[in-house]
Amino acid sequence: MAGLPSTARVVIIGGGVVGTSSLYHLCKAGWTDCLLLEKNELTSGSTWHAAGNVPTFSSSWSLMNMQRYSTELYRGLAEAVDYPMNYHVTGSLRLAHTKERMQEFQRARGMGRYQGMDIDVVGLEEIKRRYPFIETHDLKGALYDPSDGDIDPAQLTQALAKG
Ligand SMILES: Cc1cc2nc3c(=O)[nH]c(=O)nc-3n(C[C@H](O)[C@H](O)[C@H](O)COP(=O)(O)OP(=O)(O)OC[C@H]3O[C@@H](n4cnc5c(N)ncnc54)[C@H](O)[C@@H]3O)c2cc1C
Repeated sequence: MAGLPSTARVVIIGGGVVGTSSLYHLCKAGWTDCLLLEKNELTSGSTWHAAGNVPTFSSSWSLMNMQRYSTELYRGLAEAVDYPMNYHVTGSLRLAHTKERMQEFQRARGMGRYQGMDIDVVGLEEIKRRYPFIETHDLKGALYDPSDGDIDPAQLTQALAKG
């Protein structure tokens, strides 16, 4: 292929959100000799189809930490790279129907708080206050995550590529 270098320190195959984010972070870390190869066009794989939900909830410490980092990155990215995108921080209520699910939420709250997030376990009254249309008779409670939201995955990929 004309115009492509014959060697590079890092070659990333695939210009979906993962490949583009990897390149963005390598560049941020000062790596210049990096190449991203995309056989079609940026975001033409699963990234293009994604709903774009941006939760922070996970039962895994490291996944939660990555998701927390993502929310922080997305908050400042559009301005940092001058590429406006649709990112809505809506907050979310994740519902629990069992006491075991509530225990899982309490554990997630502990991890989230330790990672600096303001997530909380809430009771039925608070659920109803935050979302009055909900039926709570079969619920035990919920996990409230103020940083949950959604982003346009194609715009995000383009912003990372521009950055
Ligand atoms: C319907 C749907 C809803 C989803 N909703 C969410 C959601 O709400 N939240 C969330 O976080 N995730 C969601 N996902 C998952 C998310 O879309 C994927 O995890 C993510 O897009 C994967 O990104 P990727 O960069 O690994 O892969 P892809 O986006 O598939 O990118 C791979 C790229 O590699 C290119 N490629 C492949 N082979 C080669 C080759 N040999 N040479 C060069 N290029 C090549 C392809 O053309 C493609 O552009 C959803 C996925 C789907 C399908």
